[in-house]
Amino acid sequence: MKYYILFGPPGAGKGTQATAMVEKYNLHHISTGALLRKEIAAGTELGLQAKALIENGCLVPDEVVEGMIESEFKTVTGVDGFLLDGFPRTLPQAEALDQILAKTGEEVTATVSIMIPDAMIMERIKGRALKEGRADDASEDIINNRIVTYHNQTEPLIEYYGKVEKYHEIDGIGTIEDVRDRIFSVMDKF
Ligand code: ADP
Repeated sequence: MKYYILFGPPGAGKGTQATAMVEKYNLHHISTGALLRKEIAAGTELGLQAKALIENGCLVPDEVVEGMIESEFKTVTGVDGFLLDGFPRTLPQAEALDQILAKTGEEVTATVSIMIPDAMIMERIKGRALKEGRADDASEDIINNRIVTYHNQTEPLIEYYGKVEKYHEIDGIGTIEDVRDRIFSVMDKF
């Protein structure tokens, strides 16, 4: 099984590109953000806990998303691999992922990182807010908090995967097709 991590700041276009990636490489897409929004919509206990955190631009506890990921790995079959979108987002989550995969003698295949500057994050998320109506896209303060959370908690993963030569950065500026083709040219190597 291949385990790809789709990395990058909020608004970089991970969700958009994920669709093309799963189709071309026969992967199962796991978006922790989408799974959490589903729990919120269903009004589950977990959703209730996650709602306030997400709507303030904070991360949910590591254990919550780690549990979600492990259960998806166990239940999904018939694919050549998984595309992790929005996970891991902290160093403890990256370590937990390594441990989960080690149980079956597997490891992360590659991290594909879509990079855009902070100024563009705000612009893109505001555009998306008009279409998707996500609560965490609704105010500049929340978006700013997500940008800060990204720099503080998620960015250290660049070094984590860089050290083991699993970090591949892609310029996220350009058309959707341009960015997609840059991603494909990295993934074709694995
Ligand atoms: P974006 O990439 O635009 O920030 P996501 O849909 O990936 O959007 O995530 C939305 C929110 O869900 C995050 O801001 C965070 O609160 C929560 N979330 C998603 N993935 C994780 C994770 N791996 N760890 C903790 N919180 C997460």
